[in-house]
Amino acid sequence: MKTVNRLPEYVLIVDDSDVQRSFIVDQCIALGIPRILQAEDGCDALAQLKASPAIEVIVLDLEMPGMDGVEALHEMARLGLNPAVILASARDSVLLNVVENMGRSLGLHLLGALQKPITQEQLLTSLSRFSAVEPCTERQAAPVPGPRVDEHEIQRALQEKEFVAYFQPKVSLLDGTLTGVEALIRWQHPTHGLLTPDRFIGLIECSRHMAETTLQMLDLALRHCRGWHEAGLPLSCSINVSADTLADTRLAEAIIARVASSGIAPRFVILEITESAIMTDLSTTLGTLARLRLKGFGLSVDDYGTGFSCMLQLSRVPCSELKIDRAFVNGASQKLHLRVLLESALDIARKLDLRVVAEGVESRDDWELLCQLGCTEAQGYFIAKPMPGDALPAWWRANQERLQAMVGIAV
Ligand code: C2E
Ligand code: CA
Ligand code: CA
Repeated sequence: MKTVNRLPEYVLIVDDSDVQRSFIVDQCIALGIPRILQAEDGCDALAQLKASPAIEVIVLDLEMPGMDGVEALHEMARLGLNPAVILASARDSVLLNVVENMGRSLGLHLLGALQKPITQEQLLTSLSRFSAVEPCTERQAAPVPGPRVDEHEIQRALQEKEFVAYFQPKVSLLDGTLTGVEALIRWQHPTHGLLTPDRFIGLIECSRHMAETTLQMLDLALRHCRGWHEAGLPLSCSINVSADTLADTRLAEAIIARVASSGIAPRFVILEITESAIMTDLSTTLGTLARLRLKGFGLSVDDYGTGFSCMLQLSRVPCSELKIDRAFVNGASQKLHLRVLLESALDIARKLDLRVVAEGVESRDDWELLCQLGCTEAQGYFIAKPMPGDALPAWWRANQERLQAMVGIAV
């Protein structure tokens, strides 16, 4: 897979304060960024962006006399200027977060929203997002002129077994052990190369092929899972299931049958269903979910926190795990309001006696905060990106010591 792995080389720093600007410029120089431009306000910044379309990242102050940061973002979107953006402000994190979300909804590529004074580590974390992700894997990635796929191609992909499973590890924050993996679909397309689900999962969901796709992913996951168990890694494997497909009891039957014939006990299989899907379609899926739980399967509420369910609704769902959405995890160490939401999710999980996994852990700070707040499991780029199943044992051998050292356990 093509991954770019470099910091940006051409950055524009926008701040009305000379002192603040020089401070960030010095940090960029220290990080080895070769080309750095400066602007005093939004107008100046837009002029420079138009003159130098090769600028890759703009660090944008929000409060400036003249054109402020919010207006500058609107203008950038209107003019189709699309450098990646890092927001900077001394204002509170709620405000920063609102502007960050606004920027995303304008289609801009936001790398982060930092509260001043900015540390070099924070700047580096945001700058490295410029290329730290595989192109097109981020939810907010701008739509790229990509291959057009249609239902006919999906059908062929299923027949030819072109869908492959990547696996992202989940690690215990209590003792640093590898507890399980989440299976994430990829399409090894014959002409377009490896595609991430943002390019095609919506199409499959609208087609007649979602159940069959889920079963192919389950088979792939079970095969790898058996290999890991035989190699002495008793991992659980989480599978993403769209709630619509569970409304048809035949899918549940097929899952139960395939797991039974795989020799993997159902307790090692966790079905992830998004919070919003579970909450909107309670009546049709609840019975099926209860049945799967009775058979011993794990059931995880995915993207928890985005569906606005209350504790009462949650207590009616037979789930075993909450998976806290990365929007509440990533950056919670810096943003007080995220931390409050995270604490409340952990509190609910404890009260309902559920396992709790934080996803989107991207930095050591996120990891440490989660340990401090008593979260028990974590998943995210800080631990590992999704990888082919065969790569997992070697990854674990190479990373076990690093992760266990961070929970204070000597290997
Ligand atoms: P999801 O279930 O919430 O999966 C987590 C997504 O977040 C994955 O993207 C993963 O690569 C990404 N991710 C993991 N750690 C980090 C991190 O630290 N930072 C950031 N920024 N992202 C992180 P991916 O693989 O592109 O999958 C996107 C979505 O596609 C999944 O979101 C899930 O909703 C859907 N999906 C993936 N595989 C399947 C599948 O087999 N069946 C179904 N129905 N949906 C799937
Ligand atoms: Ca998931
Ligand atoms: Ca999720």
